[in-house]
Amino acid sequence: MLSQLKHQIKKGRQTLAVGIGVAGAISAAAACGLFESFEIQVLDQFLRLRSSDAYVDERILVVTIGEKDISTAGSWPINDGVLAELIQRIDEHKPASIGIDLYRNLPVQPGADELIEVFESIPRVIGIERVIGEAVEPHQTLLALSRTAASDLFVDDDGKIRRGLLSVVSPSGEVKQTLTSVLTLDYLYPLGINPEPLDDDGLLLQLGKGKLKRFEPNDGGYVRADMGGFQVLMNYRQKFERFESVSMSAVLAGELTDEMVRDRIVLVGATAVSTNDWFSTPVGGDQVAGVYIHAHMISQMLDLALEGKPLLRVLPDYAEFLWTVLWAATSMLLSRSVLYSRSLKSGLPAWQLMARLLALGGGLGGAAYGLFLASWWLPVALPTVSMAATVTLGMVYRNQQLQNLAAFDELTQVANRRYFDQHLAESVKTNQQLSLILCDVDYFKPFNDLYGHPAGDRCLQQVAHALRLAVRNSDLVARYGGEEFVVVLPEADSKTGAAVAERIQQQIGALEIAHEGSQVDQWVTLSCGVASAAAPDFMLPPLRLVEYADQALYEAKQAGRNRVMISRWQSLEDKKAHSNEIA
Ligand code: GH3
Ligand code: MG
Ligand code: MG
Repeated sequence: MLSQLKHQIKKGRQTLAVGIGVAGAISAAAACGLFESFEIQVLDQFLRLRSSDAYVDERILVVTIGEKDISTAGSWPINDGVLAELIQRIDEHKPASIGIDLYRNLPVQPGADELIEVFESIPRVIGIERVIGEAVEPHQTLLALSRTAASDLFVDDDGKIRRGLLSVVSPSGEVKQTLTSVLTLDYLYPLGINPEPLDDDGLLLQLGKGKLKRFEPNDGGYVRADMGGFQVLMNYRQKFERFESVSMSAVLAGELTDEMVRDRIVLVGATAVSTNDWFSTPVGGDQVAGVYIHAHMISQMLDLALEGKPLLRVLPDYAEFLWTVLWAATSMLLSRSVLYSRSLKSGLPAWQLMARLLALGGGLGGAAYGLFLASWWLPVALPTVSMAATVTLGMVYRNQQLQNLAAFDELTQVANRRYFDQHLAESVKTNQQLSLILCDVDYFKPFNDLYGHPAGDRCLQQVAHALRLAVRNSDLVARYGGEEFVVVLPEADSKTGAAVAERIQQQIGALEIAHEGSQVDQWVTLSCGVASAAAPDFMLPPLRLVEYADQALYEAKQAGRNRVMISRWQSLEDKKAHSNEIA
């Protein structure tokens, strides 16, 4: 009971350690931006999966200026007179505000004076300027009235807009609110809602029912992203152009009604292809006009402030790490049960592992999507790769273990017969000369009878250990069977073989394992048979060499045990070498 608990604790610790190790390594790779685009792709996919086109935000009206409107107006940009009339028409129906997403840095005659008059007399109008990059000045009248906003949008490297800008910093260091925040805050102000800072760094604001967190460079799947201005991660809920809209021509033709406009934010912007104000988003397949991007951002901000619907939320780095560890450790637990199953007969059941890993991957995807539905953006690539790495490591480790199991004798911890057979077959091919010693414990049956089988086991362990110490690292000691051991000596002739065998005998004698059942000594002794072969006779089948050594061993036994005998069979080369020595 207790030992089982201890085992479980040990296993749990190991699992956690591997999980942390793998997650740490993969997170380090992720910090180099390796998975950034993958994580962002997953987010895009989630956004697309969820976005519905049923949702229309009735707080916003978009007045579009399309190709047809431009040809009716007769020029682009439309002249100030037409714009002045457009604004007046909208204002008649008492909107909350009118955002003009059109640059008016230069007067476009006719009608410049009328437009100035309209700007001065209608306080609800907000105009734009471009602050970052190539700047575009605002209309001077609106500037004097402090009714301008930055139109800048933040575009990711792949051309998509995933982050909303609430304020930007001009090259001269001035903080300017964007069209999104000016129109949103103007809308919320009469409702008594104003942004309240929640920390000293200005990273977190309370806005009505929701919190606004300023985007930081490593938020979500991003790695060292630009965090200029005050950015927020957008949480697109609907597909594009799901806003009520009306064309400029319709407005000028007097088709607006109070119902369409009253208390709404009205955005006026170009939607004509020729105007080039087009952007990509994760949710819209096609590009959308900039004015709709502003509409989306405003819509999400109002959802946040009025309904408490969050923008995309991210975990702090340490929590993302724990999330990754969780998946790595789970995959390790799952793969363990396969890798260590008792039914394991031949090789690793890769497909079973695969199936589990896939199931776990599905679980990860499901969990991440579920959390995403609650507006949390958690990494997916990081845990996926960690899971794959954990399972791969587990497989490699287990494979190694199984190979060892197949090659080693459990009792004596030297190579087993199977490994010896392979090794000998290899050695015959790769060596010019080879000696083989076959050793057998003398009177081992009486030893067992006298001291018991467990003592016999210990004796075999000691003998095996002594054998290993008696030979070089390049030599192989294997348990041939029962109390018989075999030693393979590459590049050794029969003389060397016999010398090694004698050294082995001395070392076994030095162990001084008492053996009262032996008829040759008071200690445990060995009998050895040595056989050698050298090129060019090496065509000899390896088993023949074992046969010769066995014969020699038999002769050693016959001759009284506790001795070394060299096989009478010797290769020509070996014989030649010896006759030379004698001569
Ligand atoms: P000889 O000098 O002729 O080799 O006599 P022997 O008694 O050693 O020969 P025999 O082959 O008759 O006996 C071998 C014994 O070794 C029989 C068997 O019980 C014992 N034996 C074989 N494997 C193991 C083992 O793994 N552990 C133990 N304790 N005994 C073993
Ligand atoms: Mg024996
Ligand atoms: Mg034997």
